[in-house]
Amino acid sequence: MKSLPESARLKLELMFDGVRYSDALGKAAEHAFPNFYPYRFHEGEENPTGQPKATIPYLMAFDDGTMMRVKGNWKSPWKVVGDRARGYRLHNGDDIGSDLAIEFDPLPKWMQQQTSDGFPMAQAGVSLHGDMAVINIAPGCDYFLEKGANGHSMRCSFCAYGAPNARVSHYQQVSGQPGLPDITYQRMKETLSLALQDRAIGHIYLVAGSLTDWRLEADRFIEVARHVQEVNQHRVPVTCGSGALPKEKLLELHGLGLVDAVCFNLEIWGKDLFERVCPGKQKFVGYENWIQSLEDAVALWGRGRVYSAMVAGIELEPEFEMNWEQAAKRAIEGADALCRKGIIPIYSLYWPTGGQDHPDYLSRLRNYFERLNLEHHAIRQREGLEVWGGFMCHQCAYMQMECDMDRAKAGDA
Ligand code: SF4
Repeated sequence: MKSLPESARLKLELMFDGVRYSDALGKAAEHAFPNFYPYRFHEGEENPTGQPKATIPYLMAFDDGTMMRVKGNWKSPWKVVGDRARGYRLHNGDDIGSDLAIEFDPLPKWMQQQTSDGFPMAQAGVSLHGDMAVINIAPGCDYFLEKGANGHSMRCSFCAYGAPNARVSHYQQVSGQPGLPDITYQRMKETLSLALQDRAIGHIYLVAGSLTDWRLEADRFIEVARHVQEVNQHRVPVTCGSGALPKEKLLELHGLGLVDAVCFNLEIWGKDLFERVCPGKQKFVGYENWIQSLEDAVALWGRGRVYSAMVAGIELEPEFEMNWEQAAKRAIEGADALCRKGIIPIYSLYWPTGGQDHPDYLSRLRNYFERLNLEHHAIRQREGLEVWGGFMCHQCAYMQMECDMDRAKAGDA
């Protein structure tokens, strides 16, 4: 494949361009899953709300199901028109060639309901990304509590979501302990049960913050998986999205038959960068151990059932002093090495926080991401590896393009 297939090309365009505000976009937020980032109006931009910011939907999909995040951008040529009854469409300026039917991911009814003990289901540790249910009932990451020699916390440099603070205290997670109170499991199970009845769910993905002892981290995930399977009556595929786990715990997890795939996020290829981007993972597990654990998992779950999420684009942070070609070359080397071992890396687009003033900021990142996806697809084809539909698909992967590439038929591009 020399260029991106059509749906992937449009998705990439929208990931970068975003959409500008319109009445239709604002109205859609009344029934769509709300975006964590509100739309912020630019000075001088036409603003029908009279407010500095407005709620907008989180996810939208083309009519072939291709899912992507809604990014607000006042300079975007893309604009949402239509309404819920007639359907929504995306227009690109005056170009009538770009008139696309879209749908917004809905706000599920259960998100406004309560568990039997009167707790809001929206906070029970179940969330949806399209047709994927993500279970996270222990979001606090103990790496945030550990200090490196420089006095900084050992969290991953890009991570803003793992802080064990008041925001996540309702899970009653205790630092250093894998287990959670019964009430936390109970609320999650009631909520997941309803979510599974409410719409077709194709994948269940388990995540949590890390523990400094990887054996205890395995115990946490085994326990969470056990509880999930109690309500997973139709046996929707489950992925363990923990950190890397030691071999004896992998054997235990596999032997219990609780999960169908695993995803241990290496985040970045190359020990030199791993140490800087993921100091906690390096100190408490180590780069070589991480890769060994992924290899051990392939021996158990098989090729194509073992994944590793990567923060695609973090190499372009100015401190790493790489141009986009060097960054892409390194990432592609990593994709090649991992795929040869039967491990599929999944590249989630990361927006570097530094270098935004650079005039080519967006085009460098876009070139990097496009080249990486094309090469990664070619590598997967060579290795006979496709993203397994039980792990994720084009209807949930909103910041990744592997599934869009895999589903394109030969000759699409
Ligand atoms: S392991 Fe890293 S990415 Fe995961 S929650 Fe902890 S700090 Fe964040």
